[in-house]
Formats: sequence, C-alpha cells, structure tokens
Amino acid sequence: MKGSLDVEKLKTAVIEQIDANRQRLSELARNIHDNPELGFQEFKAAAWLTQFLEENGFAVKRGICRLPTAFRASYGKGKPVIALIAEYDALPGVGHACGHNISGSISIGAAVAARLAADQFPGCITVIGTPAEEMYAGKTIMVKRGAFTDLDAAMMVHSGTSNTATTRALACQNLYIEFFGQAAHAAARPEMGINALEAMIQSFNAINSLRQHIKSSARIHGIITDGGQASNVVPDHSAGDFIVRAEENDYLEELKKKVLNCFKGAAAATGARLKYKWDESRYAPMQNNMTLARLFTDNMESLGRSTNLPDSGGSGSTDMGNVSQIVPAIHAYVAIAPRGTLLHSPEFAAAAISKEAIDGLCDAAKTLAMTVVDLLASPEIMAEVKKEFKGAQ
Ligand SMILES: [Zn+2]
Ligand SMILES: [Zn+2]
Repeated sequence: MKGSLDVEKLKTAVIEQIDANRQRLSELARNIHDNPELGFQEFKAAAWLTQFLEENGFAVKRGICRLPTAFRASYGKGKPVIALIAEYDALPGVGHACGHNISGSISIGAAVAARLAADQFPGCITVIGTPAEEMYAGKTIMVKRGAFTDLDAAMMVHSGTSNTATTRALACQNLYIEFFGQAAHAAARPEMGINALEAMIQSFNAINSLRQHIKSSARIHGIITDGGQASNVVPDHSAGDFIVRAEENDYLEELKKKVLNCFKGAAAATGARLKYKWDESRYAPMQNNMTLARLFTDNMESLGRSTNLPDSGGSGSTDMGNVSQIVPAIHAYVAIAPRGTLLHSPEFAAAAISKEAIDGLCDAAKTLAMTVVDLLASPEIMAEVKKEFKGAQ
C-alpha cells in the first residue's frame, strides 16, 4: 500500500516540475520552431536540447553513432534503462509542419521531471536525440550502429490532432528508377527513337493495374522527376521516385518484387534500359507495446485528456518502427492542432507553436514522466512490458 502511495506522490511531483518548467519548455519549442533545420543539420536544436538536459544534471554525449546532431543524455544508475526519444528535424519549405519542435521538447521536459523517480528507485533515464526522421530515416542508421541495444523501453510522443497511445505505421522502402532510351526527332525520325518517358508511363499503368490485387493496407506511390527536355525530342531519359509500403515485412518483400516487375515489363515493351536502386534504409512496421500503451493512456487520461488506445487513423511510416523491433516501444500522439489539420501542411506548422501546442507539450511530458515513474517504481510492470515484447518476437 505504501508503494502505491509513493507512486502517486511522485506523479504529483513530476507534474509540478513540468508546470514549473512550462515557460522554459515553451521557449525551447519556439526557438526550434523559429529556426527550422533539415535532417542532419539540426545543430541549433541539438545544442538547445542538450544544454537544457546538462543544466539539469544529465550526462550528455554529443555526436553519437558518428552523427554530429545525434546525442544521448543519461541520469540515474543501473537497470532498467528507460529511453525517451527526441526528434527535432524540420521539413523543406514548410518548416516544423510535423511538429518535431514540440515532440523533441516533450521528451526533454519529461526526462528532467522523471529525475525525481530515478532519485528514488534504481534505473536510468536516457534521452536519445535522433536526427533526420523526415528525410533520411535517421533512427534506421542509429539502430544499425547500436544506439538502442542496451535499453529496456523506448517511448516518444509525436504531434498530432488527437491523443493516441499507439501508431499504425507501415514497413516501407523507397525505389529509385531510371529508364535510358534513344533520342531522335519526334516527328521526322520517330522510328529511330526509344522513348524513355513511355517506359515510365507504362510502369505507372502497370502499377495501377497491380494495385487492384494487393492487400488494402499496402501502398504504392511515386512521382516522375525527369520526363524529357523538349516535346520535339524523343525522351532518351526518364526518372522517378517510388515508395512501396506494407503492414508486414514479409508482404513488403513480396510486393517489392511485383512492383519491380512493372518496371521490367515496361522496359521490355519499349526497349528502354531500366536502372533501379532500392534505398538502403528500410522502415520497419511499428510494433506497439500494449503494456506501455495502456500505462500511457491511463496517465494521460488522469490529466483529463481523453485518449484513444488504438490508433484508428491512416498509416504512414516512421523510423521509430525500426526501434520498436528491438526494444519495447510506443510512439504516441498528442493533439496540438484542430482535427482535420493535415500533417506536413503550413497550417500544421502554424499550429505547432500555438497555445494548444504548448498545452499538448506539457500534458504529453507529464504523461511520459508519469509512465517512467510507473516503470521505475514497479519491477513487476517492467517485467510485464518485457514479457509482452518477447512474446511478440
Ligand atoms: Zn513528418
Ligand atoms: Zn514527424
């Protein structure tokens, strides 16, 4: 009985700590918002976030995994090691239209408050700063370089339009395509030409046909990045970028072969030569740890914020999926913008520094910090988290 009273007291204390830091966290989120930096160039954001952690007694290592804007900050001793994941990169053109200025600040605010739990119980709170989520899947590189191997749980909260403890995220891989043909006068000697643009158009048509016969959760989409130079010249080169997504790793592999056959078929039909390259980074699907998700939901609901356990929305992909394959993890969402506001839109970028966003920041930081309290205070709950993870492997 005494144990649960301690936990409640600690939760009240971490909430007060975040309320006391509201101004500072809001400034942090605003500075990052007003200075948007693209993937692997987040020098200012990484400096601000690590400075705040250092001021609060965290031991900081910068430039981990040979990535200058990645970092690891730790507080406490021994096991378990609970990681809070921070993202802070922006998008080209639309700045913080994914709200990573809020998301990164949530993990920092939560970590600083959760120190109170690490002062009382064995265990370590670690913030892992993970650059370049948007454009280069930074966490997939950090997974390969061992950044997450010694962790017992990893959690983060993304900006969104509803409060949700879990994320549906698809496995996905990018495909880069080029066709090489033969240039010729499009009217005088068309019979001498090999049309690389036609090969690309046929590929789109073949993919559209394929789409009727794939699992409804899978996605194939792409753009043409080169379709020729002049309308009176048979295009001798075309290029496109494509993304193939699926709910399971195995199905993604199956679908990748079928998609590639669409390009091969178009090459055979037109006589153009196909060159292709699959991106080295491959996003894994998100494996939600439901024990963590339930703790998160209860803690967020205790703040009077109604929270969904399952995510019923559509699915993109996130490099947090790769982390969730090796560590029990959640990638939750906190509402910072009105329903219907689209991620990656200028409207979302504007919302990412509103009062609603700062309220969301503080509530999500409180929720994460309270969840850390649950995990450090109760070896039984921690064991449950791990048991579920092992069962899912
Ligand atoms: Zn995004
Ligand atoms: Zn994002």
